[in-house]
Amino acid sequence: RSSGEKFEFQAEVSRLMDIIINSLYSNKDIFLRELISNASDALDKIRFLALTDKDVLGEGDTAKLEIQIKLDKAKKILSIRDRGIGMTKEDLIKNLGTIAQSGTSGIKKINVFNVLVEKMQSSGDLNLIGQFGVGFYSAYLVADYIEVISKHSDDNQHVWESKADGKFTVSEDTWNEPLGRGTEIRLHLRDDAGGYLEGSKLKDLVKRYSEFINFPIHLWASKEVETEVPVEEDESAEEESETTSTEEEKEEDAEEEDSEKKQKTKKVKETVHEWELLNDVKAMWLRSPKEVTDEEYTKFYHSLAKDFSEEKPTAWSHFNAEGDVEFKAVLYVPPKAAHDQYESYYNSNKANLKLFVRRVFISDEFDELLPKYLSFLKGLVDSDTLPLNVSREMLQQHSSLKTIKKNLIRKTLDMIRKLAEEDPDEVHDDDKKDMEKSGENDEKKGQYTKFWKDFGKSIKLGIIEDASNRNRLAKLLRFETTKSNGKLTSLDQYIKRMKKGQKDVFYITGSSKKQLEKSPFLERLIKKGYEVIFFTDPVDEYLMQYLMDYEDKKFQNVSKEGLKVGKDSKVKELKEAFKDLTKWWKESLAGENVDDVKISNRLADTLCVVVTSKFGWSANMERIMQSQTL
Ligand code: ADP
Ligand code: MG
Repeated sequence: RSSGEKFEFQAEVSRLMDIIINSLYSNKDIFLRELISNASDALDKIRFLALTDKDVLGEGDTAKLEIQIKLDKAKKILSIRDRGIGMTKEDLIKNLGTIAQSGTSGIKKINVFNVLVEKMQSSGDLNLIGQFGVGFYSAYLVADYIEVISKHSDDNQHVWESKADGKFTVSEDTWNEPLGRGTEIRLHLRDDAGGYLEGSKLKDLVKRYSEFINFPIHLWASKEVETEVPVEEDESAEEESETTSTEEEKEEDAEEEDSEKKQKTKKVKETVHEWELLNDVKAMWLRSPKEVTDEEYTKFYHSLAKDFSEEKPTAWSHFNAEGDVEFKAVLYVPPKAAHDQYESYYNSNKANLKLFVRRVFISDEFDELLPKYLSFLKGLVDSDTLPLNVSREMLQQHSSLKTIKKNLIRKTLDMIRKLAEEDPDEVHDDDKKDMEKSGENDEKKGQYTKFWKDFGKSIKLGIIEDASNRNRLAKLLRFETTKSNGKLTSLDQYIKRMKKGQKDVFYITGSSKKQLEKSPFLERLIKKGYEVIFFTDPVDEYLMQYLMDYEDKKFQNVSKEGLKVGKDSKVKELKEAFKDLTKWWKESLAGENVDDVKISNRLADTLCVVVTSKFGWSANMERIMQSQTL
């Protein structure tokens, strides 16, 4: 066997492998779902290619889109084989030696990777590994030597091998059995990982972690079978060779036994091998939502999101759209925001929905399915209306996508609205009497507040970006006010509490509630019993440039010119009385960028205040803009 070509791992990969090898992380099971998920990805890729070129599937066994697991107890080898797309020599070097740079740009990937390594080091939790495109290396949790044998249609069969010592070798494979197409991962198990040679353990793990893989997973299982054979008796010295007897003969024997007098039998054990199917490949989303349990939805979420934290998703929606464009979809609000959810919002294009056409996985990089502000959702769409045998590019331009997108947004906003409606914390004191019957909803208590904390920013970005759903999104807004006592409240609640004669919704923007509470702009409003919204998130300033009105009410920034608080007959008199003073004042400040000096009724104790003009930036906006240009 030739010595092969030697390579070194990219420094980041080496670092990761060191962490994995030396990890005390007790849940080593995760390697199996990572390898199965890679096998499934590779099968998805070949099935996708087969849509436009049937010949790529090949013939005989090669055409079977499946995953096979074999255990070799004597040699302590666990192997996982798929008939997926396979890897060329170049693929092996790039994919299993460097950090995969698919989709997002390379630099971002490295940054994300460094965040991961830090997180894993500090928490000791490797569960996140699959979310960062480095799941393959988790195999070194259980193996000290790994061979990857792979055959891609563009290249000869090659073997990649490494003992995780900083280097790996790639050789042309002249000694293993030809794979036809696909990849076999051979794990030479560490001494402390012998448990993974037990068929029962693997079955268990596949059930637990890979339940929703859409390709059959087979285990080459050994089974002890007990067969009953008659005990030979002296008088009826029947000649029988048990090992060669056919089923038919056995049956005949059994009948004979029955008809004759009772005859003694003995049990014989033998070991047989057979492929055992471990999963149910029926796509979960095809089932009726009524038949799917909460637990199944939760598990499906985990497998979709590669999130195995065991946390329950905050909400989900599973529906079937009929009409001109038919599709099924399952949408999830994750249990919490991704660590980089809002970090790179404007330069990321990461959609998290998987698109299937008639059960065939097409892509998870379809930006056309959801607007950017909903990119926090996870889920999938399976459409029967979209054409199967066209390129991804053509599919991206298909007119049905617009309809699907519109539908998905609608359903998402419904799902979020329901989260609020079912949350007992969302029922405010003045409504309590209408909702006396609750009590069964303890589990839902606080769920909207939690959603808002994690994803409220997305709703605000939606108001800015999505004019056609602005009003629906505004209904989902939450904020604190001068009267909310530290709790969140909504625009609907605010409007309900508005004072008689109050026309506008009052708000003030700033960097914190604490700072705003001292603002002289609020003095008189509070004294007169008006409620003022605190907007303290930098994005709120932009938000309020887009949110002009809600339910026929206009928004009024109380630090800006034009504030009207009820009627005040005295103002006219005062204006007249102080005419000379204001005139003198304005003239003296003429060089100081002051537009005007006016008598106002907005203050209570403070003597004077500088306000922004109606159409200018608020002081808070100036502050935000300044911090951004620095
Ligand atoms: P990810 O799956 O997130 O890309 P992995 O570390 O699990 O990250 O795998 C790295 C890459 O190696 C994959 O993107 C794929 O290109 C390649 N790969 C791994 N396993 C297989 C396989 N069984 N068949 C084909 N390619 C594979
Ligand atoms: Mg993977």
